[in-house]
Amino acid sequence: MGYVSTPPETPSVAVSGTQDRFAVRRIYCVGRNYLAHIREMGNDERDPPFFFGKPADCIRETGGTVAYPPQTDNLHYEIEMVVAIGKGGRDIAPSDVHDHIWGAAVGIDLTRRDMQLVAKEMGRPWDLSKGFDGSAPIGPLTRLAEAGSLTSGRIWLSVNDEIRQEGDLSEMIWPVSEHVSILSHAVALQPGDLIFTGTPAGVGPVRPGDRIAGGVEGLTDIEIAIGPRHGT
Ligand code: MN
Repeated sequence: MGYVSTPPETPSVAVSGTQDRFAVRRIYCVGRNYLAHIREMGNDERDPPFFFGKPADCIRETGGTVAYPPQTDNLHYEIEMVVAIGKGGRDIAPSDVHDHIWGAAVGIDLTRRDMQLVAKEMGRPWDLSKGFDGSAPIGPLTRLAEAGSLTSGRIWLSVNDEIRQEGDLSEMIWPVSEHVSILSHAVALQPGDLIFTGTPAGVGPVRPGDRIAGGVEGLTDIEIAIGPRHGT
């Protein structure tokens, strides 16, 4: 038996301070998890958390360049803590979530905002507004033991050295223990799954040539450049 197509590479994320890699299976993202961001987008504050996904091969490394994607004139950054699942499970109790997390990293949920707004208005899927090539820059993962509680700490993002987003992990409406538990009731989590945990207020556009940097207290910072428009 042989494959009739070229097998794709396994997507992976660097492990901070080592040559090791964390092999990635799926990427889940939490929508609307910080109150101030819900308010800036004009959404309902009382909604339970909801989830969407990005293809795992959308991951890009810190220090790299992401081409400005096609079919948008409003590419937005969203700084987020990303948690990595090391032990699978379903119907995980909030008090047990800790045992399933391998570590955490800093990620940027790049979004074609104009395309997403059309999808929202028409009741269509968000997939292509969230899951385009290079839409998931993720910095190196830090092991949970070194990363801390993941319940508080500064989260920030700058564009060309100007701070644009600033918040604290403690402002999450659904903290990691709760949203990972809720997600595990919808799907079986597996080792290699990543979860983008939502963004604080201050999202906004970037242009070709911009440099985005971001961080979460206790984790390794991320920095990427936005390249020329795709295909130009
Ligand atoms: Mn997001």
